[in-house]
This record gives sequence, structure tokens and C-alpha cells, in this order.
Amino acid sequence: MSKTNPRFMALFLELFESLPRQGPGSRACAERALRLCRELPPVPRILDLGCGTGAQTLYLAELTAGSILAIDSHAPSIERLRQTLAERGLSRRAKAQVGDMAQLELPTASFDLIWSEGALYNIGIEMALPICLELLRPGGYLAFTDAVWRRENPPEEVRAAFEQEGVTLGWAAEVAAAITQGGFELLDHFTLPDAAWWDDFYTPMLARIEAMRHQYANDREALTILDEIAKEPEMHRHYANYYGYEFFVARRR
Ligand code: SAH
Repeated sequence: MSKTNPRFMALFLELFESLPRQGPGSRACAERALRLCRELPPVPRILDLGCGTGAQTLYLAELTAGSILAIDSHAPSIERLRQTLAERGLSRRAKAQVGDMAQLELPTASFDLIWSEGALYNIGIEMALPICLELLRPGGYLAFTDAVWRRENPPEEVRAAFEQEGVTLGWAAEVAAAITQGGFELLDHFTLPDAAWWDDFYTPMLARIEAMRHQYANDREALTILDEIAKEPEMHRHYANYYGYEFFVARRR
């Protein structure tokens, strides 16, 4: 069963849209990455690619005085982020827009910082890096997270799970090399700690799955799908030492 099954996709989205975030990450990690962008202007122009419902968009709004354009291809997530921004009085400083990061129609060299948590892999780093390079002014920063292997010879279960998702994992050193070859200076990179997987992502995900199991108690197909989705956090519980998320912070030369 996978994302090609419409019922799977419907339940997956119902679950994911309700979570505080749609991938691993935390405010502490965002702060750490942002601190590496030492020479940001006082009011940076920021682009958040694959923002989802905007957990990190809100952190960026709190941690900087900048203007933020947050883009995601999934319209319901953008709608939810718009509502949150309005509720928090941030609609002037942060805009949420539906868009495809592979086909952005934005002026070149117009951002001081491009941020992307757990999203560039959707179009692939090789495609994403030149897009970001062009949108950043010289000296502008790129901060993004990407899933990477941490240990050789992962169990078949882990390899198969990524394959099924259509995700090809590399190694941090490979991503680092691509960044450097892509016209960036790599400032630093660090591995997301376990808390960044659990606190705002897998713990709320498992709680929500439990709630949905009650909601769909008489729906056999839904229950099977929920079991399937619950495998991801379980896999991470067992095999977190084989793969992780790496935060990369680079600067356009
Ligand atoms: N950054 C958020 C969401 C990560 S999930 C967080 O960390 O919580 C990845 C997001 O990328 C999803 O919201 C998905 O809709 C979005 N996405 C996938 N392909 C995309 C594309 N081509 N252009 C823009 N967004 C895309």
C-alpha cells in the first residue's frame, strides 16, 4: 500500500495536515542553523520552500525581523498557514503561497536566506541547489535539512521503506560535496537530535493515529492504512542510528 492508493493518500493527508509539522525538526535546531547565518541583514528577505503548515515559518518570523515568503505545493497546508499567520498578526510580514519549487517565478538574486526543512528532496538536491543559487543574492544563505544515511548496511526493512517512498538517501559528505560544487560555501552541518524527530513530529503523529483508530473503529481498510503509516515512527524507534536528518547551512559565493 502506498501513496498511489487514493484512500491511503486521503488518510495520510488527514493525519499530516493536523500535525504541528510534517517532518522532523525543532525550534532549537532552527535557531542553531539561523545562528550560523552570521551576516544576515537586519531585515532579511526569506524564502521558505516546502513550508508545509509552517512550523519553521513561524519560528523564522519570531527569530528574525525579516519578511518571509512561504511556498508549498499542497494548497490545504498553505490555507492552514495563512490562518495561523492571520491569528498571530503576522500576515503582513509573512506570506503563504501555493507554488511548485521546481517552477518558481521569482526574481533572481532576491533573497537573503532560503530555508527548507525536509522538502528539497521532493525535487532532488541536484535540481534544488541551482534554483536556490539563482534566487539568492551573492552572500545569501541557504539552510535546509535532508535525510541521510548514518551507518553502512541498513536493515532491509529500512532500505525498502525509503525505496517505497521513492526517496534516495545519500550521505552527508555527498550532500556537502554537492553544495560546494554548486557554487556555495558550506558553513556547517549538524545532525538533528532525536528530540527533533519525536517532540513535534512522531509523538503527535502517534497520538493522532490513535485518535483516528477510534474515529475509524469500524472501517477495516482505514485501520490497515493507519497501521501502515504507524510503521514509520516505529522504524525510527528501532533504527534511528542508521539514518537521520542533517541540517546544512551554506552561503552563496
Ligand atoms: N517544512 C515542513 C514540511 C515538510 S514535508 C516541515 O518541516 O514541517 C514536505 C513538504 O514539501 C510538504 O508540505 C509538501 O507538500 C511539500 N512539497 C512537495 N513537493 C513540492 C514542490 N514541488 N514544491 C513545493 N512544495 C512541495
